[in-house]
Amino acid sequence: MLNIAMDGPVGAGKSTIADAVAAELGILHLDTGAMYRAMGLAALRAGVNTRDEAAVTALCAKTEIGVRQEADGQHTLLDGEDVTGCIRTEEVSLAASDVATYAGVRSAMVAAQQRIAREAPMLLDGRDIGSRVLPEATVKIFLTASAEERARRRYQQLIDKGERADYDQVLADLKKRDDQDTHREVDPLRAADDAVIVDSTELSFEETVARIIAVIREAQHE
Ligand code: C5P
Repeated sequence: MLNIAMDGPVGAGKSTIADAVAAELGILHLDTGAMYRAMGLAALRAGVNTRDEAAVTALCAKTEIGVRQEADGQHTLLDGEDVTGCIRTEEVSLAASDVATYAGVRSAMVAAQQRIAREAPMLLDGRDIGSRVLPEATVKIFLTASAEERARRRYQQLIDKGERADYDQVLADLKKRDDQDTHREVDPLRAADDAVIVDSTELSFEETVARIIAVIREAQHE
């Protein structure tokens, strides 16, 4: 069965690129970051300190994180409640990055993701898909871009949405999450040995999608 792993740092455009690639291939896309975000939101709502591993792990054990694929894309569920609209704030981003460092949280999420991936041909995007969730994936892509370019895109997105944003703050937050994702002990962000690295710093959205589709088609014919 076709399983595609796409990993990379914050703001490399993984989610939107993954959506476009999956649509072109006619397969589903599982955004695994949304599951860590839902867990981060659960901690914030419960008033649990996201730096407290024992408390977050205990909360995770009694929390149900799920996804539902609908016509307009993935919906993320927290104990049955659709929280898709509440998980994109900076506060939830940082909480997600904290809770994602804990082994107990990661093993629960990885098991759920592996179960979902067995159901249908699928593209999974995240940080540890090629190295941990789907070590046998048909193709592994590591999508990256320079920190400054990723921060510039994120800043532009916020401005386009009519939000106030400060480029230096966006860059600092992004570097903080990069650092936390890369240096955590459990399943840190890294390119799997057999991943194809795609650097989108100098590529447009369309060029990036085309490049990834080409890599996948080539791997399917091998
Ligand atoms: O991809 P996104 O930014 O939505 O992910 C939110 C956070 O979840 C990341 O900062 C990262 O710490 C964590 N994450 C992870 N492993 C994944 C996906 C996301 O640790 N497979």
